[in-house]
Amino acid sequence: MIGERLISCAETIAVVYAILLPSYVASCLVVNRLSRRIAAAKIQSRQTPPSQIRRDQRQSLASLAAIAAMFGTGHWLYSELGWGLAPADGVFGVAFSFIASLVLFDTWFYWFHRLIHTPRFYGRVHRWHHLTVTPVAWSNNSDRLVDNLFLQSYWLFAHFFIPAAPAVLLAHKLYDQITGVVGHSGYEHGGEWCRPTSPLVGVTHHDQHHRFFRCNYATHFTWWDRLMGTLHPDHDAELKRNLTATAALRRATRQPAE
Ligand SMILES: [Zn+2]
Ligand SMILES: [Zn+2]
Repeated sequence: MIGERLISCAETIAVVYAILLPSYVASCLVVNRLSRRIAAAKIQSRQTPPSQIRRDQRQSLASLAAIAAMFGTGHWLYSELGWGLAPADGVFGVAFSFIASLVLFDTWFYWFHRLIHTPRFYGRVHRWHHLTVTPVAWSNNSDRLVDNLFLQSYWLFAHFFIPAAPAVLLAHKLYDQITGVVGHSGYEHGGEWCRPTSPLVGVTHHDQHHRFFRCNYATHFTWWDRLMGTLHPDHDAELKRNLTATAALRRATRQPAE
């Protein structure tokens, strides 16, 4: 009985990995292709060494497996043992649970991210991710296992906090995966939706986190950074400059906005 359950849980984790890994590779390839069209609008002038990119690619294979283990175990506990909150029904319920999950994960990410930037945790937990100062799309999932235990363990517990159907959590995870890859791309791909008046982050937000280190800790929204005074003082001005540079290049090449 226990053996069957372990096999069943392992199969669920394998399915999640089979979803996350191609999503990572495909989104990196697409974002890199889009970035080449606006090459002159690169946020940082510094180039990322090829050896560093290969390091991030290799580590991502293991890091995504760790995320799949947590997401898959959470899903298995929910679907096989019924552990967690019943999903909210209807279109409103789906929309509510998706937005609630975005807000809760952003809160989870912000505070645990601040925690692992403290001297007590930084060296052993988070330093690996920051060794890439000029991130590329492939850098998104380059983390140590223990780093994932802080930032990505949300997916293990999400069904206990949010009345979300499994498909809603999977949609949120894919949103997080894709926006994370875009956020590390080094090019401001965001359009109107990430202007300083919008609560959503653009690429500039996390690019500054890699450059300046002690700022911009959130992942989906700028709310927590604005509220807690951790948004980089030049964030809004640089975001505008980067958006303007990207828009000018797109106009020049008559490329429709993504
Ligand atoms: Zn960090
Ligand atoms: Zn990063």
